[in-house]
Amino acid sequence: MERSTRQRTAIRAAIEAAGRPLSPQEIHDAVRATVPEIGIATIYRNLKLLLAEGEVLAVTLPGENPRYETAHLAHHHHHHFHCVPCDRVFEVAGCPGRMDDLAPAGFVIDRHELTLYGECAECAAKHKGKAAPAAPGPSPRPARQHKH
Ligand SMILES: [Zn+2]
Ligand SMILES: [Zn+2]
Ligand SMILES: [Zn+2]
Repeated sequence: MERSTRQRTAIRAAIEAAGRPLSPQEIHDAVRATVPEIGIATIYRNLKLLLAEGEVLAVTLPGENPRYETAHLAHHHHHHFHCVPCDRVFEVAGCPGRMDDLAPAGFVIDRHELTLYGECAECAAKHKGKAAPAAPGPSPRPARQHKH
């Protein structure tokens, strides 16, 4: 009981500290700093509980496994930036606002989702200084398999 409380607290703290949506693998990596013995199955089990309790919300970008962010972040309308090279997702504060002009005449928009793709500051800095920037195109995605 005490152990599971400690695990759950550590998981919630890791998600809150990140301030961005984390994959179960990223949560696992972060939590292992304080709870070294924790397994990925425990991460999944606790995420399920935290989801059921409304403490965290799932962020599911198109074609991606769900990532998790704190409910208080998720309750504000916002968007995400997916860094392709490092496969991390970040918060985007801005919103283009209403997009009524994009919808066909007579259609009514209830909500919208928007994801930006590119390189985070860290990745962009790494690529700076390299001679010729590669032509924009589909980057090879790291094949990440989650073990359940
Ligand atoms: Zn978010
Ligand atoms: Zn928006
Ligand atoms: Zn990056």
